[in-house]
Amino acid sequence: MSSKCASCDQRNASTYCPDSDDVYCYECYEQKPIDDECGDYESGYECAMQEMEFDGLDAAHALMAFDIDPADNAFQYGFYRACIHEMNKRIKN
Ligand SMILES: [Zn+2]
Repeated sequence: MSSKCASCDQRNASTYCPDSDDVYCYECYEQKPIDDECGDYESGYECAMQEMEFDGLDAAHALMAFDIDPADNAFQYGFYRACIHEMNKRIKN
């Protein structure tokens, strides 16, 4: 069974968003927390950057944790993105 995305009319929506009680395709769901809750996203991002810089948080370890328990709100999503950016920086250096 495939559902229609609440945001873009694609028929491959498979990601349920409990906040809005709607189903989204992956692309829209990925964008959604940023659009809806920019402040929380930013603070999650900042929080991760601080923890990586000052508390010795390992981005690779954090990402493994998100594999098991995916980010499900804007704060966690910002945190997750910061870890990905950190990993990308490491690959480039
Ligand atoms: Zn969509």
